[in-house]
Amino acid sequence: MSNEPKSAAPTTEGTLANIVSHAKEYGFVFQSSEIYDGLAAVYDYGPNGVELKNNLKQLWWKAMTQLHQNVVGIDAAIFMHPLTWKASGHVDGFSDPMIDNLDSKKRYRADVLLEDKAAEYEKNGELARAETLLAEMGRLLTSEDLAGVKQLILDEKIVCPVSKTGNWTDVRQFNLMFSTQVGAVAEDSSQIYLRPETAQGIFVNFLNVQKSARQKVPFGIAQIGKAFRNEIVARQFIFRMREFEQMEMQFFVRPGTEGEWYETWKATRRRWHEALGLPAAKLRFHDHDKLAHYAKAAVDIEFEFPFGFKEIEGIHSRSDFDLTQHQTLSRKKQQYFDADINPETGKAYGNYVPFVVETSVGADRLFLATLCQAYQEETITEGEGEQQQTKTRTLLRLHPALAPIKAAIFPLVKKDGMPEKATDIFNSLRHDFRVIMEERDAIGKRYTRQDLIGTPFCIVVDGQTLEDDTVTVRHRDSREQTRMPISELRAYIGEAVSFSRIFEQLEG
Ligand code: ATP
Repeated sequence: MSNEPKSAAPTTEGTLANIVSHAKEYGFVFQSSEIYDGLAAVYDYGPNGVELKNNLKQLWWKAMTQLHQNVVGIDAAIFMHPLTWKASGHVDGFSDPMIDNLDSKKRYRADVLLEDKAAEYEKNGELARAETLLAEMGRLLTSEDLAGVKQLILDEKIVCPVSKTGNWTDVRQFNLMFSTQVGAVAEDSSQIYLRPETAQGIFVNFLNVQKSARQKVPFGIAQIGKAFRNEIVARQFIFRMREFEQMEMQFFVRPGTEGEWYETWKATRRRWHEALGLPAAKLRFHDHDKLAHYAKAAVDIEFEFPFGFKEIEGIHSRSDFDLTQHQTLSRKKQQYFDADINPETGKAYGNYVPFVVETSVGADRLFLATLCQAYQEETITEGEGEQQQTKTRTLLRLHPALAPIKAAIFPLVKKDGMPEKATDIFNSLRHDFRVIMEERDAIGKRYTRQDLIGTPFCIVVDGQTLEDDTVTVRHRDSREQTRMPISELRAYIGEAVSFSRIFEQLEG
């Protein structure tokens, strides 16, 4: 059975505006509280969006916990003891440098203004100039020289995109954590935070997990969950949200081996993005110019969005910073006893606080990258001879394993027993896959609807089906149709939509 395109159709990718409106129109992403004119930087996932997002999360979860015997999962609470955030450094240091334009009254992240300027240089081929600017910014931010950051913005003649003036305030630090109160009465209440990252839920459970899951270092703990940040600049759709979801894995290693593990996870995670359909040419590594307070080394995996290369995942070598901090503030030992023999001393490695290599990917940013990559407009020719016509079709070329709906079943007409046959097929597939049945409208229109949401297969029940129990299967990408017995559908679809296809590429 061929899955080759009939002809190489000219395709174009979408602009962000196309993608945002497609996401809304076809039930992927809605603005939160839209009837009240929305809430800035908060979004809801619609019926197709939640399926795509769940598939991405499942794929990540399985790639972590199912493919690796030494990675186990947890699901920690969003609220944590307030000292957690003191220990982690978030109370004192989790802030962004912000600057206001006095004319437009708009607030910006100073580092983002400078990064945008560097991106502009890069676009114009002035790579060295871009690099120098980023390095200088990194140096100033690391030394917390905020006056220097402002001066750099002035020297670079950066103006506010709204007022077009360079009339800036000083640069100030702005803490990104949301806080709230626990306790019924004001006097007894204490301030707690909505977690700004999921990682700390993993750190505070390090020993619980190590012991209960009988894990030996090196081992990892994976978690998917919501995180909250009061982002100053909320823009670019679901790229930067105030409530978002992270998929984080902390890998605990023997001190001294973190460099190797950092390289291993860097490569593993990049392969994973490629395996699910993000092309290698649109992915790149970007070493951090400014290291976070906990980091020994850090790199971003960036994807080329319609608005440029931007971070989708961070890989961080966090040393023993977090566990040591928790040990100090909780006064509970966070040590591991390593019984393996150190060949240099002939003795067991003994007690130590493990080092950590973290992989942290945003589910929403990954969703956006996947959607941007899948969205295509192509020019196709349909019909023969005089009937031939050229038109544009929009489709989502999602990996079948990620598609919200795996197959749509269409009775060709609403009579002659075809709907009943289609219902039988639906019932025989629904235990294994998310399938739908559609009877309304002409068949072409029904194909179009499925292309728009990325359904890889459309199964058509026609007159011949009633005679020989075969159906046509129409392929989304090639529009090719193949005839096959109903009895083979389950295996055929199962093969195409299985995560195994993706996992095989990780090993290959
Ligand atoms: P940025 O520099 O873009 O603010 P970050 O370096 O602060 O991101 P991390 O703290 O490393 O991000 O978080 C890990 C991942 O979580 C990021 O790679 C991203 O995919 C996701 N993420 C972080 N902040 C947001 C946000 N505001 N909205 C959506 N996803 C986010």
